[in-house]
Amino acid sequence: MPKQFDIVVIGGGPGGYVAAIRAAQIGLATACVEQAAYADPKGEVRLGGTCLNVGCIPSKALLQSSELYDQAGHAFVMHGIGFESLRLDVRTMMQRKENIVAKLTAGIRALFRKNGVTLLTGHGRFAGRSDDRWQIEVGGHTVEATHVILATGSSARSLPGVDIDNTLVCDNVGALAFEAVPKRLGVIGAGVIGLELGSVWKRLGSEVTILEALPDFLGAADADIAREAWKVFTKRQGLEIVLGVRSIAVERGAATVTVRYEVDDQAFALEVDRLIVSVGRVPNSGGFDAEPLGLALDERGFIAVDEHCHTNLENVWAVGDVVRGPMLAHKGMEEGVMVAERIAGQASHVNYDAIPWVIYTQPEIAWVGRTEAALKKDGIEFRAGKIPFSANGRALGQGDTTGFVKVLAETGSDRVLGVHILGTNASELIAEAVVAMEFGAAAEDLARICHAHPTLSEAVHEAALAVDKRSLHF
Ligand code: FAD
Ligand code: NAD
Repeated sequence: MPKQFDIVVIGGGPGGYVAAIRAAQIGLATACVEQAAYADPKGEVRLGGTCLNVGCIPSKALLQSSELYDQAGHAFVMHGIGFESLRLDVRTMMQRKENIVAKLTAGIRALFRKNGVTLLTGHGRFAGRSDDRWQIEVGGHTVEATHVILATGSSARSLPGVDIDNTLVCDNVGALAFEAVPKRLGVIGAGVIGLELGSVWKRLGSEVTILEALPDFLGAADADIAREAWKVFTKRQGLEIVLGVRSIAVERGAATVTVRYEVDDQAFALEVDRLIVSVGRVPNSGGFDAEPLGLALDERGFIAVDEHCHTNLENVWAVGDVVRGPMLAHKGMEEGVMVAERIAGQASHVNYDAIPWVIYTQPEIAWVGRTEAALKKDGIEFRAGKIPFSANGRALGQGDTTGFVKVLAETGSDRVLGVHILGTNASELIAEAVVAMEFGAAAEDLARICHAHPTLSEAVHEAALAVDKRSLHF
């Protein structure tokens, strides 16, 4: 008789492994299926999905290393710190990144053991349904589950006619594993990956050119932030970003790549030593034999779910990148918790209006809630308070005053509708804004909270005061 579980989760990325841990915590018999998409040097399957293996974690490790290199080369001098020569060892940098990935992925295995989650390694697929139970086949064995959670994630979107070899032409996997700094790096797509990984290699010495199809830069961010970030990235940091690019064609040479493209009907050619293609990601919504069962997809190919991540199939749920909403690890994790708890009969939900976004460039970009443009489009009246980091003592002390904090609050109710930050540590500062929005706080509430001095968080405080035109230090 097949082994029986209350829940089988297919996919061991942030959406899947968190769902599995939470379900097991509640006392549900839980298994998590992970194929060997990522394996350690001994060939053992690594949990953590895209995020831990070839996404969030390795990219942030390299962003930190490259930021330190950049600071040593350019910022130390203003502190009166100098040295004879600066050396870059890409092998060590990559090994450090690998060590972090190894530690964290092994940590999830340990969390599975601690919480009693059964790990089933192999490709998971639906094998049938009988007696109100789903049969799931994993590597030739069949297990049964009352509930199935699909957390199969996403893959890099490809461009027609552009083959990824992860040597000359790379997606995120290859772009995180260069063995040396390319002299000239091309990037297609000025989205999150393009900016983060473009920044890594620019700081380490590459000439970086990013080709973006859209005519506007960072369209999802608040226009003020996008404008300022554009100035910093292109003018101060020297990233070459070309907007409105059309008709991209890629020709591969022995050791170089030529990208042909058009802007305003004018033809250009860019020769580079490495090319990163980062034009978005597509959901892994097929490949597990759910089609014959009638699993519904939405018009964009994501698994169709309701607001609680339930699919059209009984007791089949889906979370993370494979369903609608931002492709962010923390969004997938929240959905995983919600689904595990709902299966256990709890009334959990995800507040999709309070999911923060962070782009880990330097300065960092972080926001939660609505942009000015979105509020204007919906005819919502608001007041804005904006404070530059140049008016913040801690930012001055740290030697980086780039950027600002902007708080948007509804006229009348004063409820915080959006907070937008460009600056050092914006990724950490945004947490306060998320709390404010989650609890429906007013700008006045943020303005009345005592913030430690001197901290960057005082800029959030001052921006909240500025909503009412009573900032104290600007
Ligand atoms: P995934 O992480 O993709 O995991 C899905 C897992 O399912 C995989 O391990 C796969 O092997 C497994 N699987 C698929 N099908 C099957 C099957 N049939 N059987 C068994 N196993 C299967 N997000 C952030 O929030 N912050 C960041 O800083 C950030 N940085 C990123 C940087 C890069 C370069 C990239 C590419 C992404 C980044 N993301 C970031 C996005 C983040 O990685 C994803 O949102 C997140 O990993 C999605 O989690 P998931 O569990 O839905 O899917
Ligand atoms: P993205 O959607 O952020 O950016 C893709 C960019 O490519 C867009 O600006 C798009 O207009 C452009 N583009 C699309 N087709 C093009 C073409 N033919 N030519 C030129 N440009 C083209 O996607 P991404 O950067 O690939 O990242 C994928 C996802 O991974 C992100 O959406 C995000 O959800 C996640 N991610 C998050 C983080 C983070 O949270 N810090 C970091 C990296 C990735």
